[in-house]
Amino acid sequence: MLRKMAGFSSLDLEELKRRAEILRSQTTNSTSSSYSSVCPKCHDTGTINVIELVDTGFTNSKGESIMREQIKTDPITGKLPLCECYKDKLFDKYNASAGMKPEERMRLFDSADIDDENASKFEIARAFVEQIEHHLAAGAWLYIFGDAARARPRGLSEVGTGKSYLTHCIGNELTRAKFKAIYVTEDKLFGDIKATYNRDSEESEGEVLSRYQDVPILLIDDLFKSKQTDWTEDKLFHLLNNRLGPNKVTIINSNYAPNRIELVCPKTGSAISSRILGAALNVEMIGKDRRRQQRRTEVPKWTSSNSMQKRFVD
Ligand SMILES: [Zn+2]
Repeated sequence: MLRKMAGFSSLDLEELKRRAEILRSQTTNSTSSSYSSVCPKCHDTGTINVIELVDTGFTNSKGESIMREQIKTDPITGKLPLCECYKDKLFDKYNASAGMKPEERMRLFDSADIDDENASKFEIARAFVEQIEHHLAAGAWLYIFGDAARARPRGLSEVGTGKSYLTHCIGNELTRAKFKAIYVTEDKLFGDIKATYNRDSEESEGEVLSRYQDVPILLIDDLFKSKQTDWTEDKLFHLLNNRLGPNKVTIINSNYAPNRIELVCPKTGSAISSRILGAALNVEMIGKDRRRQQRRTEVPKWTSSNSMQKRFVD
């Protein structure tokens, strides 16, 4: 007990200092008013520090046990219990909604404009989120697509069918349920990697890649939007390949059916296809172009701004 305790004490001090430093830097850099006050539970150390008395196993000359003060640790992890404020600050960095534009954060399953065409797709996505822990354990993916080759011959559209909208609903629901996730568009994903090549970049390429590789849930919006280069194909293949397996869920939407990814990724497309076909639940969204419909529709004066927000934008 004594040896264990001593080990923890020194480690905890270092850990405490490190956390206090992180919290201090977050407090200084943040403009949010919620960070300006000191947390009453942990005094901004990030951990709940309860002092307890522990028997050292030694006795004094009177035969009384010598007690010693120790910061109480979690009996299972052996670490200091984290304060809710620290968990919230960590979550700030890894919640899907953080990567979205303000109007995208408003998109929710409950307020979405559901009709006969998209109802079943929304049900699949909602069920996927409800079962997310199960999918995490299994390493299941979700691939939402609309493809011109399948839509056009039937007089339908592959764009404007609400794929991004649905992805936003999924991401916002994951945030509400406090699941660690990152939402990113293809542009931002490659932009983040490229930014590390600048001499004054604070992050290395490896750090950026591992952020996207290791996050439990990754949502990629509008993948294969641009013609891939050898470089983007390579990065994408390694990213997706490293996300295969348990404890990781990848949610993608794109304008390519899984078996046609090769068209936009000539080098690694077939390998990416087989990974998606192997790991993902596929949801096809083709139908009317809701964006075009939205542009054509004159907004009547009595339409509330609220119902406008519910309209789909891909
Ligand atoms: Zn706290």
